[in-house]
Amino acid sequence: MRCPFCGNVDTQVKDSRPAEDHVSIRRRRFCPACGGRFTTYERVQLRDLVVVKSSGKREPFDRDKLERSIRIAMQKRPVEPERIEQMISGIVRRLESMGETDIASRVIGEIVMETLARIDTVAYVRFASVYKNFQAAGDFDKFVSELRPATASEE
Ligand SMILES: [Zn+2]
Repeated sequence: MRCPFCGNVDTQVKDSRPAEDHVSIRRRRFCPACGGRFTTYERVQLRDLVVVKSSGKREPFDRDKLERSIRIAMQKRPVEPERIEQMISGIVRRLESMGETDIASRVIGEIVMETLARIDTVAYVRFASVYKNFQAAGDFDKFVSELRPATASEE
């Protein structure tokens, strides 16, 4: 694993242990060249997914990117970080078990919203409002109409 500080490829693993969610292994690494320390996570990846955008552009699926967008939506919400981590792992597992390597970005967005809707309505609305920028207006109207009963019962 290349050192993120100096680029040295010969780094050492100092410690390995399961992360809290038990679906990943956390490794503490040390770079003998610059003394830098960093952490890597090892996860089971059932297949290499490719995201197909609505423009037709393809790019490798990026779990970190998915995680960032979900964490932004979940900001300051009363949901345990562990629960968020489980949720992200659950989404990735669903994507991996769909049986296809190519997955439309729309499908990912829908799975994320479906999952958020079950966990936290506010996070769902936040994510959906960002997501709508990438979708036709008609699609978003559908999401909003699906959303209404849940928000009404909360307030
Ligand atoms: Zn280094």
